[in-house]
Amino acid sequence: MVDLLRNLLRNASRSPVTRPYPAEPHVPFAEARGCLEFDPDTCTYCSVCEKRCPTGAIKVTRKPSKSWTLQPHACILCGYCIEVCPKDCLWMDEHHRGPAA
Ligand code: SF4
Ligand code: SF4
Repeated sequence: MVDLLRNLLRNASRSPVTRPYPAEPHVPFAEARGCLEFDPDTCTYCSVCEKRCPTGAIKVTRKPSKSWTLQPHACILCGYCIEVCPKDCLWMDEHHRGPAA
């Protein structure tokens, strides 16, 4: 009972330990894995990233037209595709995608 009262008084007298979101937005830490980004201008559509992706989140086609698509909800942000891309056209952004992405 004494411990309970001591905890109640201590918690009532100090500031909250949680962040007052959204007034104070979350700032991601450096190297955080937020979402995968892609540069279509440097991509050669070699499909190495598609072959290395463990979840099948990437689809690359060359014919009839060149395309690179990502299923964001299938991506586990492992970074394998970034490691193997010969053109460095994939990178990890530290910010998470918004709900509408
Ligand atoms: S590995 Fe790189 S260059 Fe090749 S298809 Fe993927 S993103 Fe494009
Ligand atoms: S980060 Fe991993 S899971 Fe996501 S697309 Fe690249 S290889 Fe696939």
